[in-house]
Amino acid sequence: MDVFTLSIVNAFIAATFTALLALQYKSERQFRYQRYFVLAAVLMLVNALLSVSQGSITTLAYWLVPALSNTCSVGAHLALACGIHRHLQLPARRQWLLLLLLPIYLLQLTDFASSATANRMLIAIPLVVVFNLWSIRMLWQHRHNELGRVYLAFIAVFAFNISQFMLRSAYMLLEHYQIVHTQHSTLIHSIGFFGLTAFAILIIGCVIMLSHSQQRLALLHISERDALTGLLNRRSLNARVASELNRSQRNQKTLSILLFDIDHFKQINDKHGHRAGDRAIQHVVDIANKHLRDYDLMFRYGGEEFLICLPDTARDMAELIANRIRKAIELSPLTTSTEIKMTVSIGLTSTQAETTPDELIEQADIALYHAKQSGRNKVVAYQQL
Ligand code: GH3
Ligand code: MG
Ligand code: MG
Repeated sequence: MDVFTLSIVNAFIAATFTALLALQYKSERQFRYQRYFVLAAVLMLVNALLSVSQGSITTLAYWLVPALSNTCSVGAHLALACGIHRHLQLPARRQWLLLLLLPIYLLQLTDFASSATANRMLIAIPLVVVFNLWSIRMLWQHRHNELGRVYLAFIAVFAFNISQFMLRSAYMLLEHYQIVHTQHSTLIHSIGFFGLTAFAILIIGCVIMLSHSQQRLALLHISERDALTGLLNRRSLNARVASELNRSQRNQKTLSILLFDIDHFKQINDKHGHRAGDRAIQHVVDIANKHLRDYDLMFRYGGEEFLICLPDTARDMAELIANRIRKAIELSPLTTSTEIKMTVSIGLTSTQAETTPDELIEQADIALYHAKQSGRNKVVAYQQL
């Protein structure tokens, strides 16, 4: 295929992807970072269209090709990096970096740049490599989060791009400075187009994969969480507790379960109203959360009943944690227009043996029942019964 045909293929692909990403952005407005990916696709499209025009109209003005087309090519890589930065919600704003495109464009108009393709490459290569490396660095630092697999795919594509860019550029520079002599510059040009097209296809694939994975995670989050407290809900309880039980048995560790219920909560609702009752529930959850480690799990088991799963926690330790939570709730009333004092009763059970989540929850429930029966505001362990 000749370079002109390739540039038409490139433009066609860029146009398809720009339309695809723009439609995706329109339907998923909550993912604001996607506008940077749309910008990257538009810049790729402009670059491709300029290449097609250059091939068909023979020569365009220098300020269009190569000056503007080079700037678009570099800009696409910068827009991708800005999109990734925004997606990861990193604290410092970096979007202003897009303003760098103006000095980059002006640089293309200097005598140094306009005198040779090799000189323009000397400007473009470091910029593209730096922007790609910046993207790789941000993604690598977040490779352990829920979307880590997608980030690794992005990293592979950026690494491929840096390699193909460097190899091709190195060859062209060596040729320009007559270190090597070749008759194959058209072939290298064609390979370059293939490289760019492959990069565009792969990176857009990653962008689409990212948005789909993020949407899937958001839905999973909604289906697993309770709207009032943000805690895991009962639907996710069995599977999560079963996997913690498995892990504990494999590692021969003790798993403890706390089941707690706010005492006389109906009176709080009756006296202060349902909305204050809701706030009281959130208040209790906040206090309990402060006493948990990162790997402990808390579920909203029922209306004002909560279950805490404490992996690798022996009974004595679980009892200590339960009493800390109980005391903290007793000593920290919710202050709205009035003060709402609350206490909780806690049932506790621990196991090292093979058992099921249902059995464990039933034991904790029996212990909780006894805590209520024996006067409330106390912790009762199942083994003590
Ligand atoms: P006990 O000490 O025996 O637990 O007495 P209690 O009054 O707390 O009894 P119970 O645990 O059966 O009370 C549950 C009450 O919690 C009934 C219900 O109106 C209220 N409730 C359940 N879910 C919510 C909620 O999301 N918001 C509010 N405000 N109240 C809720
Ligand atoms: Mg209650
Ligand atoms: Mg209850």
